[in-house]
Amino acid sequence: MSFIKSPLQKAESAIAQADAVLIGAGAGLSTAAGINYGGPDFEKAFADMIARYGFTDLYTSSFYPFRSEEEKWAYWSRHIDYARFAPEGKPLYKHLLEMIQGKDYFVITTNVDGQFVKAGFDPDKVFEVQGDYGLMQCATACHPKRYNNESLVKQMVAEQKDCRIPSSLVPRCPVCGGPMEINVRKDRYFVEDDRWHQQAERYYAFLEKSLGKGKLALIEYGVGFNTPTIIRFPFERMAAKYSDVTLIRINKDYRDCQTPGIKHFIGLKTI
Ligand SMILES: [Zn+2]
Repeated sequence: MSFIKSPLQKAESAIAQADAVLIGAGAGLSTAAGINYGGPDFEKAFADMIARYGFTDLYTSSFYPFRSEEEKWAYWSRHIDYARFAPEGKPLYKHLLEMIQGKDYFVITTNVDGQFVKAGFDPDKVFEVQGDYGLMQCATACHPKRYNNESLVKQMVAEQKDCRIPSSLVPRCPVCGGPMEINVRKDRYFVEDDRWHQQAERYYAFLEKSLGKGKLALIEYGVGFNTPTIIRFPFERMAAKYSDVTLIRINKDYRDCQTPGIKHFIGLKTI
């Protein structure tokens, strides 16, 4: 029997003692949860497109310059269905929710796969900064609106042949008539609608009422260096500035801190 706590036990007691919990999640969380952008699952689901286009994984394939809207949406509908609609709420996300049960919480994530809400997190407490595969928008952002794409995506998946959807299913912007895009931030045309801004305000309101006003646990899961200015660096700054903030960093590869002066830090490979 030992009285020395393991890092996981330290993290659990920091969460138990916290007045509030802020979760920040990146791609590494969904990978750890089992949504595989490469490997056998991907190879099985995309065999025809791998043969045709030479795709190696679902991340690099999303940059492929398709020659027509019919080909583009054949691919994207499959990508969205595979990563966003088909997976159930994953056990790892549910486990995270159990860990913070009864706590005042908020989630900020760069993930676009809708897993937090599927696992039972309150949609009003989840800020999906970089968009959502389940939404689409005008490709040139001519108007600030996002549209649900689930039924259209399912239809595109069902009716595509030879890596093309029927031309009648190609979505067009209801305002300018131009092409549509997935609502995922990749250029200056990313649409932030009323709902996006509402969630951004809720995130800042949560920080306002939690920082320096009691114990706050930050759980950062699977955030690397693709977009570190959204979650990783701000979380480090909060932990360095406020002595009652504990930063729990869960990361397979990058557990080091760049910011000096953090009093309470716990690094974990997994939970
Ligand atoms: Zn438009």
